[in-house]
Amino acid sequence: VQVELEAFCKNLIDEIQGLCKEKQQIHLQYGGNTEVWLDKQLLRNILFNLLSNGIKYSDAGKNIVLKIKAEAGSVEMEVIDEGIGIPEKDHPNVFDRFFRAHNAGATQGTGLGLNIVKDYVTLMGGNVTFSSETGKGTTFFVRLPNVMPAQVKMD
Ligand code: ATP
Ligand code: MG
Repeated sequence: VQVELEAFCKNLIDEIQGLCKEKQQIHLQYGGNTEVWLDKQLLRNILFNLLSNGIKYSDAGKNIVLKIKAEAGSVEMEVIDEGIGIPEKDHPNVFDRFFRAHNAGATQGTGLGLNIVKDYVTLMGGNVTFSSETGKGTTFFVRLPNVMPAQVKMD
């Protein structure tokens, strides 16, 4: 269905803000079309997992940015944090089911979130990558196709 993406993101951020630590906020930087063709449930799960990771793996006072560029054809999203980062040797395993990085420490998690993100993004015909440096932060990049689904003809 067609989604009012900017409003959708604002609502989701309002909900997730409750998970934030002291002096930690999620900022939305939105550009491009306001309406896109995306599956709301899948999108919600993807953004929830990435934003909650951003919160969980950052200290109090460190903000998270959700950057979106919505264009005809595709939507590009970035979830940027200034958190603990992912050690380089763990990079190849980050999307594996039940995997938790060596610096995850005492944070609680099952290691399923990013596996689900990868599945959903793939299902939607998009792709997900990341760049991360220990002690500096992490950015996840998601690109999803924004195309009107083909009309089904019944005859
Ligand atoms: P959950 O199933 O509750 O999401 P989780 O957060 O541990 O558990 P994933 O979201 O799949 O699992 O992430 C896998 C691992 O990757 C995490 O345990 C953590 O070590 C690392 N990780 C993911 N996102 C970040 C991030 N933004 N910053 C630092 N490390 C991260
Ligand atoms: Mg997670």
